Amino acid sequence: MTDPQRDPEGPPAHDALSEAAARSARHTAVETHVTPERHERASRTDARPIFEIDSVSVFYSGTPAVREIGFHVGENEITALIGPSGCGKSTLLRCLNRMNDLIPGATVEGSVRYHGADLYGPKVDPVQVRKLIGMVFQKPNPFPKSIYDNIAFGPRVLGMKGDLDEIVERALRRGALWDEVKDRLDENAYGMSGGQQQRLCIARCMAIEPDVILMDEPCSALDPISTGKIEDLMLELKENYSIVIVTHNMQQAARVSDRTAFFTVDLDEDDHRIGRVVEFDDTEKVFTNPSDPRTEAYVTGKVG
Ligand code: ADP
Repeated sequence: MTDPQRDPEGPPAHDALSEAAARSARHTAVETHVTPERHERASRTDARPIFEIDSVSVFYSGTPAVREIGFHVGENEITALIGPSGCGKSTLLRCLNRMNDLIPGATVEGSVRYHGADLYGPKVDPVQVRKLIGMVFQKPNPFPKSIYDNIAFGPRVLGMKGDLDEIVERALRRGALWDEVKDRLDENAYGMSGGQQQRLCIARCMAIEPDVILMDEPCSALDPISTGKIEDLMLELKENYSIVIVTHNMQQAARVSDRTAFFTVDLDEDDHRIGRVVEFDDTEKVFTNPSDPRTEAYVTGKVG
């Protein structure tokens, strides 16, 4: 197996993606068992980068939205993206699974390496990328189908091998939902509470065996109890997955993440609002001893 850390060029992109797929296939055999009490933040030195983001700028119809973003996302860590509204957190998140490709007029410059390979390389299939790098959105978006069919949808479309009942059960267990729904798998997902729907969406993401989970404000539509359940779930999942989360909730970033990127928005010389990362560091440091005064003003609530 090529070690991208030792090989600065990295393997060809398609090889790296297949390699990641092989690794994520191991998740089928591993049940998560880490309780939040056992959560220990990783220290900066022990993370192997899963994403290396370098000088990334994104434009919408030629207008810049974020400029020159650069940081690494560690494997089996939770990385939080925080900062005021409109500073480009979701835009940057979408660069990590090529979702911006689907937005007409959006262009991405710079480099995103995934397991050492160029995520935007010519041989990379964006559909394969989105299979390996799943996404959970702000508002739970189950399909108007049964709980079972919501989970089975992706595996069916992808023609995944294995017993579908087992795939569905495993995904629902990973989404910490099995015990609540095992006796009503045929019921419509719209009958579930908002918090259950969001865990269903996480389970649906799990069903296709991703390697990374991107979460765009996954708790903003949820009550505090459901939010707590999703946070517990994230801490369990990071044993086997890497997670990047956009959140407006600073307490949430402080509670769950290992690393935090703080974004700000400034006006450039053409009066465009441009998002930038002004600080990226261990979460504890960002919240207790930030290096940049803008981070300090934000995390202490002096500016929002
Ligand atoms: P955040 O997630 O930090 O709130 P966004 O990434 O949503 O920020 O937005 C960053 C900037 O990009 C904003 O100025 C926003 O208006 C713009 N933007 C986001 N999505 C689109 C889009 N689909 N089309 C055009 N502009 C967009």
